[in-house]
Amino acid sequence: MSDKPAARLAEPLVERLCLIGLGLIGSSVAHAVRQRGVARFVVGYDASPAVRERARALQLGDQIEDEVAAAARKADLVILCVPVGALASVAAEMAGNLKPGAIVSDVGSVKSIVAGAVQKHLPKGVHLVPAHPVAGTEQSGPDAGFASLFHNRWCIVTPPEGADPAAVERVCAFWRALGSNVEIMTAAHHDIVLAITSHIPHLIAYNIVGTAADLEEVTQSEVIKFSAGGFRDFTRIAASDPTMWRDVFLHNRDAVLEMLGRFNEDLSALQRMIRWGDGQGLFDLFSRTRAIRRTIIAEGQETDAPDFGRRERSEQPVDESGSAQ
Ligand code: NAP
Repeated sequence: MSDKPAARLAEPLVERLCLIGLGLIGSSVAHAVRQRGVARFVVGYDASPAVRERARALQLGDQIEDEVAAAARKADLVILCVPVGALASVAAEMAGNLKPGAIVSDVGSVKSIVAGAVQKHLPKGVHLVPAHPVAGTEQSGPDAGFASLFHNRWCIVTPPEGADPAAVERVCAFWRALGSNVEIMTAAHHDIVLAITSHIPHLIAYNIVGTAADLEEVTQSEVIKFSAGGFRDFTRIAASDPTMWRDVFLHNRDAVLEMLGRFNEDLSALQRMIRWGDGQGLFDLFSRTRAIRRTIIAEGQETDAPDFGRRERSEQPVDESGSAQ
């Protein structure tokens, strides 16, 4: 995989792009689209007046509308960047204003249930091509976005059966233009893969941080003081947006419960190894998991800097305010 930033396009891929939801992902798409010249005209909308005001100040679009219908009107490509639980209602609100031939896509972290919920509101002649950029941070809101978020990250496109091939290719080309690598799969398969690679890890992080917060034998100040022992890395994930993650678990229930069952079985096996002093069993598992991390680094999906690069940062000179330069 290349680390070179994606080049600016000679000609825009999209004439009129509409972004609904201007938080972390919507604003990152806006920045990347502008930087790479992917759309000739960008219209944005967010349900929150404060976000719309911020979006105007940050110039996240050529125009930020106060109504979802006005934003979607005449758009060639509409990308819904709202929490999964809001996708269906946004689709219903804008449906009457979509032009024939328009493509509607999204960035939601769950695909199976959502595609059906959105599709039923769309008029004939409008193409639905759902997508999920597998890139993000624990931050949210319009100020959190940045242009390189999708660079060298995967974007999974999940076309429904019978989807228009030209529309699918257009959405794939859009994400490639933002620097992503694109993979096509079914929505059902996406939901299983993401349950184990993203949803369960978040659930574990929320749980472990919650458990630590409720402990009686260990004080809060000890949890914070000694967090570098591993806990700190879970707190980063557990700081992720509560609305987004509530919606993910409510809408990917079956795949998450299936994977959680497997996880619990493996956890019980680990518990047994510890109870019976099975050092070899523990060593073998930890060796296998270490190899997986090395593969992720080799594939360019993570840095090999020690301690997630923190050491490097703390060794950098600091300015008078005390922050790293
Ligand atoms: P975010 O930063 O919270 O942004 C979502 C924005 O959508 C907020 O400004 C929110 O406004 C707005 N919104 C909510 N309901 C709306 C509606 N009905 N109409 C218009 N705007 C509405 O969240 P995000 O991280 O960008 O996530 C957006 C989507 O991307 C989610 O579906 C998520 O699953 C997906 N995703 C997230 C990540 C990640 O790491 N964060 C990665 C990949 C995909 P309010 O603040 O007023 O609610």
